[in-house]
Amino acid sequence: MAIRSDQGIVLRGYPFGESHRVVVLLSPNHGKLRTVAKGVRKTKSRFGGRLEPMTHVDIVLYEGKELDTVTQVSVINGFPNIRNDLDRVLAAGTMIEVVDAVIQEDDPSLRMFLLLQRGLSVLDDAQPHPALVTAFLLKAADIVGVAPAFDTCSGCGRTDNLRRFNFAAGGSVCEECRSPGSYSLRAGVVEYLASVAAADITDLPNTDESMSKEALGITKRFMEYHLERQLKTLAVPNV
Ligand SMILES: [Zn+2]
Repeated sequence: MAIRSDQGIVLRGYPFGESHRVVVLLSPNHGKLRTVAKGVRKTKSRFGGRLEPMTHVDIVLYEGKELDTVTQVSVINGFPNIRNDLDRVLAAGTMIEVVDAVIQEDDPSLRMFLLLQRGLSVLDDAQPHPALVTAFLLKAADIVGVAPAFDTCSGCGRTDNLRRFNFAAGGSVCEECRSPGSYSLRAGVVEYLASVAAADITDLPNTDESMSKEALGITKRFMEYHLERQLKTLAVPNV
């Protein structure tokens, strides 16, 4: 058995045995890591809050047959401002839940790690931009290869008159290619989504509130369709 160092962002944890806790992290090098923190429920002070979700940590692991055991933890960034603000907690919760759903164990994705790290940093620095979660979801979809098409009809490839969105087809569709289950979108939403998808998450395009809600709603439903599960935190409106 060997000792090794790694780092990761804590996605979630759950009780394990009488006093232990399984802590699931996203590592930049190893994808999702399922580790065990021993005795944390008996002696809470040992790791303190350092293994709470939404914490970026350096860890030392003792390799086990099934689960590696956390022996040391130090915090790289605890994103303290997120925790004091409900809107930010909900937005961060959505980011973490999506990442947890799309990344598997031993499935390294440095891009997804960097997206989550940046997403949490942006949230920690300022009140969330209304398009931040939309942008995060679109970039996560791109990383896992299901980015929706906005500029061309997913059926015939035309680039004008794209007023509908079809989850199964993978994005925008024109009136001729629309099939059952195609959502009708108001004018401008597709263009707005395309601009959000192309923008850096620190420099997102502005729009009115109803446009940004519609853009987020369609993006959430697109992700839900592709994740084939109802994402719990996505059910919370207005975030
Ligand atoms: Zn078409």
